[in-house]
Amino acid sequence: MNRRTFVGAAAGAVSAVALKDSTMFANEAATQRAKKFIAAHETKFKPLDRRAGLAWWDANISGKDEDFARKEEAQNAIDAALADAKTFAELKELREASTKGEIDDKVVARNIDVLYLMYLEKQVEPDLLKKIVAKANAVEKAFNVYRANVDGKEMTDSEVRKVLKESKDSKRRQAVWEASKGVGAKVEEDLKELVQLRNQAATKLGYPNFHAMQLFLNEQNGDELIKLFDDLDELTREPFHKAKEEIDGILSGHYFVKTTELMPWHYHDPFFQESPAVFAADLDAPYRSADLLKLCRDFYAGVGLPIDDVIARSDLYEKKGKSPHAFCTDIDREGDVRVLANIVNNEMWMATMLHELGHAVYSSKNIPQSVPYVLRGEAHILTTEGVAMQFERFSKSRAWIEKMGLAVENPKAFDESAKKVQRNQLLIFSRWCQVMLRFEKSMYENPKQDLNRLWWDLVERYQELKRPGGRNAPDYGSKIHICSAPVYYHNYMMGQLFASQVHHALCAELYPNVDRNSVTYIGDKRVGEFMKKKVFAPGCTLDWRGLTRHATGEDLTPKSFAADFRA
Ligand SMILES: [Zn+2]
Repeated sequence: MNRRTFVGAAAGAVSAVALKDSTMFANEAATQRAKKFIAAHETKFKPLDRRAGLAWWDANISGKDEDFARKEEAQNAIDAALADAKTFAELKELREASTKGEIDDKVVARNIDVLYLMYLEKQVEPDLLKKIVAKANAVEKAFNVYRANVDGKEMTDSEVRKVLKESKDSKRRQAVWEASKGVGAKVEEDLKELVQLRNQAATKLGYPNFHAMQLFLNEQNGDELIKLFDDLDELTREPFHKAKEEIDGILSGHYFVKTTELMPWHYHDPFFQESPAVFAADLDAPYRSADLLKLCRDFYAGVGLPIDDVIARSDLYEKKGKSPHAFCTDIDREGDVRVLANIVNNEMWMATMLHELGHAVYSSKNIPQSVPYVLRGEAHILTTEGVAMQFERFSKSRAWIEKMGLAVENPKAFDESAKKVQRNQLLIFSRWCQVMLRFEKSMYENPKQDLNRLWWDLVERYQELKRPGGRNAPDYGSKIHICSAPVYYHNYMMGQLFASQVHHALCAELYPNVDRNSVTYIGDKRVGEFMKKKVFAPGCTLDWRGLTRHATGEDLTPKSFAADFRA
């Protein structure tokens, strides 16, 4: 995960325009005005951003109410500054000048485009915004206090997951799974109102619906996304079907039911968004007595992207009150980059640390200070998630583990299991992302349709799960992202595509005749050079499309990703 929510910028506005003499002076005036606006923004926001970053950090480390209050207050100060109508009116004029090609400095024009989208998002009437925030909070609270209730007994989320992972009793699994979905019914009404309110805000700002607006704010487009996901669907359908057949075979043995009788509660994860743990080898074994932090230090230093300063500022082990998750945050865009984690000696935390430190190397640590403040971050949330995933994947590579000096006891079994888990995870996750993207898009386009049915139509089609007979419940509402992180999920999938595409481009340049699945990057400083030059250095001076072309020579496609799960 990465803390900063990307605010995006519009594409295509920075194309070079041949200037006539008569427009030259006007352009110079527009460029000067834009520079002044940007400078004023920086002066105002640098201290606000830093304060919000530090407050966010403190609140997540301590869990104390007063720290959370400080975090909220810092965020409100930023939102209020972005909502200012007079500032926005001036920015709107500059953005029009930029669109007409009247700002002749590309970076200045890009800066204006990015700022425009940041401010645009906050131009919702204060009353409407208040209603949206209140509804969203109500939904979030309902999620926080909800406990699945089975036979009069409340269960925590981890208890639910434990049953779905371990129980052999289909009836019990079904009861627990159904109870875990109960939160959907609790939030259904509020969520439907929230969707209406979000759509209302979007139409007031001139967009057909909230989904279309969110995509615009993130420099994406619904038709293009569906086309990309259609291609991905084509490429994954068969391999997913085969992988699922194998999993179904094993699960049916575990639960003593026919494969045709397997139901959604048999797949371990309540949404079947990850691979059930059905393959034998113990991926944790190599990490049980390893020093995960030292492995990270050595690995990143070896590829020429040292992270000792990040580690020194980070908070990496469990303590009371602290957030149980993992994040990376860039506090000041001047190199104060930190990771919050709760390291335990297992494979999941090795992957998580490689992931978070991947975010850390793609930050103001390695984006030159010469890149203007507003643009001194990742090009897009999908590109930073992509880099994090590119490094994260090594935790399941035997070649990587052994070269890092750890022992793998039963190499053959490990390989078989690790490869399958890696591959299945990519496939299963990609089918699940299809459901999320298509459901959200359709829900905001037509909120009055039968959403219960839409959800299960998509789950059946893309995840090949069986709809429980006679079930008519708002199961989509039990996925917190639908409520609290709307129109965001597809970026995880696109991040996977980006990870694969950059890895393949890097291999083509640095390891032309080597099997790409055996490449480990270990000890090769050229990897850091490649990443710095091709991925990090532009910051957000390029949008995600431009950066993908800059880094890989091609547009973002599922081609490399497909090669990775075929291997
Ligand atoms: Zn992440």
